Amino acid sequence: MLERKTVLIRYDEIGLKGRNRKYFVKCLLKNIKRALSHLENIHFSSPRGRIFLYIPSSISLECSTILKTIPGISSFSIGVSLNPDFDLISDLAVKWIESKLDSVKSLKFCVKTRRSNKSFPNTSQEVNLEVGSRIMKILSRRGLTVNIKEAEYVFEIELGRSETVVFDNREPGLCGLPVGSSGNVLCMLSGGIDSPVSAFMMACRGCRVHFVFFDNQPFLGRGGYDKVLNLAKKINKIQTRGILYVVPFQEVQVAIRDHCNEENRVVLYRRMMYRIADEIAKGQRYMALVTGESLSQVASQTLENLAAVSCITSLSVFRPLIGMNKESIITRAKKIGTYDVSIEPQPDCCSIFMPKNPVTRSKIRFLERDEEKIPWKELRNDALARMEIIKLDDLSSR
Ligand code: ATP
Ligand code: MG
Repeated sequence: MLERKTVLIRYDEIGLKGRNRKYFVKCLLKNIKRALSHLENIHFSSPRGRIFLYIPSSISLECSTILKTIPGISSFSIGVSLNPDFDLISDLAVKWIESKLDSVKSLKFCVKTRRSNKSFPNTSQEVNLEVGSRIMKILSRRGLTVNIKEAEYVFEIELGRSETVVFDNREPGLCGLPVGSSGNVLCMLSGGIDSPVSAFMMACRGCRVHFVFFDNQPFLGRGGYDKVLNLAKKINKIQTRGILYVVPFQEVQVAIRDHCNEENRVVLYRRMMYRIADEIAKGQRYMALVTGESLSQVASQTLENLAAVSCITSLSVFRPLIGMNKESIITRAKKIGTYDVSIEPQPDCCSIFMPKNPVTRSKIRFLERDEEKIPWKELRNDALARMEIIKLDDLSSR
């Protein structure tokens, strides 16, 4: 017979959601099912407070790798379901611990029980004692000792209403909320270090993140395009169904270079990016824009310059990195696996035709005066008409 495992999934903040909890759990379960849909022979259940998967042992590792990429899961354990019988449970524990003792001389261990099935006749503490003493009877001569505070091996028992599961491992999840539970947003993705981190953070707040990249291939070559595509694919892995919009930005930049005040250039590029992103988002009913801006990191991100771009749109603009320093953003980027792609050398379109002295405290009336010198509506509409739309799911299998 096929050996089966039970995966016990704990979820993060969903547990706090009161009457909306069912909606969030349904969303998380749907995401888990979709992520594992290519694997056969998996069954699911979702009693209060937990999600259980019943899987063939042969796919434990693959399951585990995938579950670590799903927002909303706080942690999970792969174990075995059995009847809540002390002998059965301790026999299994002895088998698992014996295999550990084969390679060490001594081992400190403890039993931890969590009992949500309040009709079970023993308290958690009593179960710990019953199972622990049965294990000790057999294994104390082989160097096993009980040590609750400094246990090197923890045998856990979860006595649920519908299920009793035992396990000896806990894997951390991404935490946050399940993708799809909040809504769709559009992230301005540049290929640098910051914006992928922002996108990732919003996906972990339950958003499905779509991406817009402003591309200037005639001046910068194809490198930026490939890099952004790569980053968008990476982030899409934790959410699926994301779309990347690639907007040709050369004409906009050339018009600004040729007709506007040099010192305003970068803020003017930005205002055009916001205008175009606003059109895409409104057309698709995305509810907010997301950027990788961080206060005063560079000249274009002072309070004045951020205000000069935010006023372009009536949508919410989310800047998850606004209060973070570069070092902590880099640490995050490394953790989520986007850093190595982000640091591939490739200039961003904002860095071409850079003014010698970019304005740090722009005045909106001067920017508007500059914009009167270019046909910005036509430039915006023309860029939108030539935009490439890429469905990220079509490019990558999980
Ligand atoms: P990043 O590391 O994300 O590139 P940065 O520190 O280089 O950020 P800027 O170049 O000032 O900062 O860009 C600020 C934000 O503006 C980016 O995080 C991104 O959201 C957006 N942005 C900049 N350039 C582009 C682009 N070519 N396409 C799309 N979004 C862009
Ligand atoms: Mg950049």
